[in-house]
Amino acid sequence: MAPVLTRAVVLQTWRYSETSKVVRLATRDLGVQGAIAKGALRPRSPFGAGLELLSEGVAHLYHRETRDLQTLGAFDLLDLRRGLARDVARFAGATALAEIFLRMAPAAPLPPAYDALTAGLDALTRVPADAVEPAAVRAAWGVLGALGFEPSLVRCARDGAALATEPDGPVRFSVAEGGILCERCTTTAPVTRLPPAAYRDLCALADPGAPLPSLDDAHAAAHRRLVARFVRHHFGESGSLHALDFWLRRPWAAAS
Ligand SMILES: [Zn+2]
Repeated sequence: MAPVLTRAVVLQTWRYSETSKVVRLATRDLGVQGAIAKGALRPRSPFGAGLELLSEGVAHLYHRETRDLQTLGAFDLLDLRRGLARDVARFAGATALAEIFLRMAPAAPLPPAYDALTAGLDALTRVPADAVEPAAVRAAWGVLGALGFEPSLVRCARDGAALATEPDGPVRFSVAEGGILCERCTTTAPVTRLPPAAYRDLCALADPGAPLPSLDDAHAAAHRRLVARFVRHHFGESGSLHALDFWLRRPWAAAS
């Protein structure tokens, strides 16, 4: 059997035996796949040091549809993304993004979602320190959008009515409805009232072509909470999202 060669990002890795690792990969051509890398922990392993969390490479996967765990034959490293380890904020945002991808992406090809993931990781590697938080929020919305959970921000999420692009009062955002609501639509689910400036920032954060808004600590926290609630709602309440919670709480910032 010939291996499938596909670009892949390591979303999770753990030691499986004395010499082997099991990894969960976001692959561009096969979606999320679990694979065993036999001998990865041996000295002079064919995987070298590339099979690390958030690194990207070309995976050689011996892939069978019927198997839960594929066999990884090799991983040609393209980018270790060492820049993500420069500070905790970058790393926390990146691991939250990896977790969202891992939990919400299908085991089926979805190249736009893969590209949104790598674009987000690249942005988190690259942006200046004061832009890490908005870049992380944008990356999360980008991955959600590419996975089919794009929030409705210019039309009412319930009835599709067009809303004012420059509202003069708070805009109601419903996580359960998947976006903003017009005057006519009511919901029993909780809504977040976004002041006009916060609404403009949200639209900019969700639009990769817009300049990245600068957010102070309080507004960055509000945007983190909003996207995290969106993930939780659409992922389902079951199961834990440790990386997302860590990114949300920022314990490292509180301690400094
Ligand atoms: Zn409506």
